[in-house]
Amino acid sequence: MSTQNIAVHLPDGSVKEVPQGTTPLEIANSISPRLAAASVVARLTPVTGAAQATAAADESEAGMYAAQDAAAPRLVDLATPLMEDTKLDLVTEKDPDALKVVRHSAAHVLATAVLELFPETKLGHGPATDAGFFYDFYREKPFTPEDLAAIEKKMAEVVARDEPFMHEFAPREKSLEGFEKDGDFMKTHFVTKFTLPGSEVSFYRNGNFIDFCRGPHVPSTGRVKAFKVLSLAGAYWLGDEKNPQLQRIYGTAFFSKKEMDEHFARLEEAARRDHRVLGKQLELFSIQELAGAGLIFWHPKGAMIRKIMEDWMREECLKRGYQLVYTPHVARVNLWQTSGHEGFYANNMFTPMELDDAMYRMKPMNCPFHILIYKNSPKSYRDLPVRYAELGNVYRYERSGTMHGLLRVRGFTQDDAHIFCMPSQIESEVAACIDFAEAVLHTFGFTEFKVELSTWDPNDRAHYAGSNENWDLAIRSLDNVLKQKGIPYKTMPGEAAFYGPKIDIKLVDVLGRLWQLSTVQFDFNLPARFELEYVGEDGERHQPVMVHRALFGSVERFFGVLIEHYAGAFPLWLAPVQVGLVPISERHAVYAEKVEKALKDAGLRVETDARNEKMNAKIRDFALQKTPYILVFGDKEEGAGTVNVRTRGKTEQVSLSLDGFIAKAKALVASQSTGL
Ligand SMILES: [Zn+2]
Ligand SMILES: [Zn+2]
Repeated sequence: MSTQNIAVHLPDGSVKEVPQGTTPLEIANSISPRLAAASVVARLTPVTGAAQATAAADESEAGMYAAQDAAAPRLVDLATPLMEDTKLDLVTEKDPDALKVVRHSAAHVLATAVLELFPETKLGHGPATDAGFFYDFYREKPFTPEDLAAIEKKMAEVVARDEPFMHEFAPREKSLEGFEKDGDFMKTHFVTKFTLPGSEVSFYRNGNFIDFCRGPHVPSTGRVKAFKVLSLAGAYWLGDEKNPQLQRIYGTAFFSKKEMDEHFARLEEAARRDHRVLGKQLELFSIQELAGAGLIFWHPKGAMIRKIMEDWMREECLKRGYQLVYTPHVARVNLWQTSGHEGFYANNMFTPMELDDAMYRMKPMNCPFHILIYKNSPKSYRDLPVRYAELGNVYRYERSGTMHGLLRVRGFTQDDAHIFCMPSQIESEVAACIDFAEAVLHTFGFTEFKVELSTWDPNDRAHYAGSNENWDLAIRSLDNVLKQKGIPYKTMPGEAAFYGPKIDIKLVDVLGRLWQLSTVQFDFNLPARFELEYVGEDGERHQPVMVHRALFGSVERFFGVLIEHYAGAFPLWLAPVQVGLVPISERHAVYAEKVEKALKDAGLRVETDARNEKMNAKIRDFALQKTPYILVFGDKEEGAGTVNVRTRGKTEQVSLSLDGFIAKAKALVASQSTGL
């Protein structure tokens, strides 16, 4: 039999002519043995032939068994014989796709260990997940924590044996017979469901362990260099409680111990910053079972921070030409019909309540209220732009069980504003909104953010409200402003709401996590629904353009992000208690009063710990509350009119005159500094 050659296209643009049946590993070796050793799997992309889309993956059960789009890149083992022309990418450990592969291979290692220790166990399936992998097992006896430890130990043996993962095929009917005979009800189900009669079924073998699996896998078990068994959970087979209960073992895996350590350190750091934990520990807020889920109670210390946030926001609004308004929490259903919320937003609203004159609903948004204020008196072009701002409480229905601390709630406060302007004013208004958003982020201590511009799908104009001219003008203005400011952004075509394009600003916190907060959103729909008007210079009636914008987004959510960003150690200007006073003994109570008064007169927030406690206990309590400054004083300080200053996060203590300390603290507050 003569061998045919195939063309393998490499990422550098070169093409290798190799005999059919050559493997990616052989090609890698021909390039460099080092590359071969670093490769995990190969990514193949067809270069010829018509794309043949096949059935979509069944996500709920086992997407990995399902057929794929034939034109899409697919990952294969390094040992897979190449049979036709293809593009070939060698996937090394640095490629994010490689992580999923090693995690799936770790799931096989787990199953290998479980069967060696508990041969009576029946196998379900074991996919990789975003954070690791799991494998479902059926065994009458529950696994104990000791069992899990033994399994992890056995896994290390399987890894040390460095067994190659071998891809094998067997006739479907014969495979099913075998699974049925062994009582492997889950494998029987998967093979029946995900393979075609008469086909060859794909298996992976390592040592004596064999599993029904599409792959791909790392070359051998030895490549699973870092792994951990994490937890055990129960799940009914196919999610049906009439079915047997499975035991799902969770784990995670990495290519190196270092990467795994970093992963756990990140998780620990995120847990340390969890705003729900800190909220309790620092007495900032609570959620009360008796009142209901997703409803936030701001305790005095949290409320102090909120007051500072809100004061800052209102002052900035006034400086920037906004007018403040207040509007009700409920309105007649008729209003929500006019605004359209009754139609497209009803599922997100609290159910209506009947009063004697009409049905009412809690407001999910402030927009219609601001529109009513706008409409209350005739407007001329000289009045525009009109900018109404409100810290408005809105209520939205979130399914029970989906609430999460301050981040996902049923009642929250938007720092909401609506700008009504002429088309010619769009660009300057957008520029001002972006400036304002940047000021919010910088003031509250965020230096990095990402911007997305959501535009329409130009091929689908029928589904968008508003004229072409307005859409074009709005998108061009958003575009121009971002370009002029030199702000990098990503355009998201087709991501705009039907009523207008928008800019989303996502801030990046200290852990590199992205948070969607500020939005500047155009609206060509509501001005039409409410028949908004202004009289133009030409004496004619025109429809104003409307912009919704929120910068904190939600005060609750922004606060949650702040707590996590600072790990509760707020900058001085935001700290609910800025200075803790520790008189060394009761003898110093008079001096304590004097210090407290001086600080309060200077506008600082002070708390004196006058308890008859040891000095160190008092210092520790203030430190646990992450108080920025702790002032300690005894005979010496009283005599000299000084204070001993302990600064949060610093070990050295300094002695300052009372006036000196006050001047320093006041300057830091005034500059909204994040340092102490
Ligand atoms: Zn598998
Ligand atoms: Zn709005």
